[in-house]
Amino acid sequence: MLVLPAPRPEDGPEDASRQGVTIYLCALGCDASAEMGLLTRELAQVFPARVEEARPRKLPVPPESFSRRRSQYHSTVLLAWMAGKIPANQRPVLGVVQVDLFVEELNFVFGEADPLRRVAVISTYRLHSDYSGGEVRPDVYQARVVKEAVHELGHVFGLGHCPDPRCVMHFSNSILDTDRKSKEFCRRCRMAFRIR
Ligand SMILES: [Zn+2]
Ligand SMILES: [Zn+2]
Repeated sequence: MLVLPAPRPEDGPEDASRQGVTIYLCALGCDASAEMGLLTRELAQVFPARVEEARPRKLPVPPESFSRRRSQYHSTVLLAWMAGKIPANQRPVLGVVQVDLFVEELNFVFGEADPLRRVAVISTYRLHSDYSGGEVRPDVYQARVVKEAVHELGHVFGLGHCPDPRCVMHFSNSILDTDRKSKEFCRRCRMAFRIR
């Protein structure tokens, strides 16, 4: 594991890509070409890492993660399954799904991360609508996708939740929280950031 100091302005993403850190992307149960393209560009701006598609770049959503009782997919089950499919040399890996995700204690989750296995997943299911149920503008949708992806990868890189509502590591209880926060880490989270 590599512990980086707070990035200075002259530190470009090249620094860690020279150290061989690559984030892999995988679409589960969907194509997600637009989101994969977006994340390939944006994550390389935020993290000092290269971003590539995993091999395979597409996997199904595992049927065993589906809960008939909740009509949603259990993200923890999905993550464990993903860790069995994506080899260790292609981690950290971020999965993108279109289905609705949940964990037992919550109505839904925008995503989940397993820092130990270095796998994470985000769902685009709840990122499309505005507050009155209409469709949001494409740029708002894209910003949400990027924030959720940075947040889950932040967990993979060792960060917990942050009390600063503008910090990307702030917990999103609703889409309002996601819209309020930025895609950036606050100063404190930057200091705690580790890349591995
Ligand atoms: Zn979180
Ligand atoms: Zn923070």
